[in-house]
Amino acid sequence: MYRVAKSVSFCYGHRLLNYAGKCQHLHGHNARAVITLESSSLDERAMVEDFSEVKRLVWSWLDEEIDHTMLMHRDDPLLPVLKDAGERVRVINENPTAEVIARMIFEYVAGNGYPVTEVTLWETETSYASYRPGS
Ligand SMILES: [Zn+2]
Repeated sequence: MYRVAKSVSFCYGHRLLNYAGKCQHLHGHNARAVITLESSSLDERAMVEDFSEVKRLVWSWLDEEIDHTMLMHRDDPLLPVLKDAGERVRVINENPTAEVIARMIFEYVAGNGYPVTEVTLWETETSYASYRPGS
């Protein structure tokens, strides 16, 4: 089995509902997503996937949907305030945690036909969440 990983950095803002801690307040992160892909065979270029193709795919979506965007729970009472102020907001059906963002990235990459097996989202230098399908 071959395994490759591509890392992409981006910024996002969020806050968490029903959470007693610093993350209940609006704040931002300089995050890094690590996209892991696996294949038992190599393509005609002798690659699992081209790193630059993976980066282009992930970055085009991140740039459009997540980068420099406030990720807000759909029930967050600040949502209409931020929207009215013209802020860049993406509505999430659950708390916009690192776990959820990792899963969103995974689903986008998998939905584009890439053999992604795991996405790890480094929210800080010392904290990450990973998503891979399965139990
Ligand atoms: Zn946070």
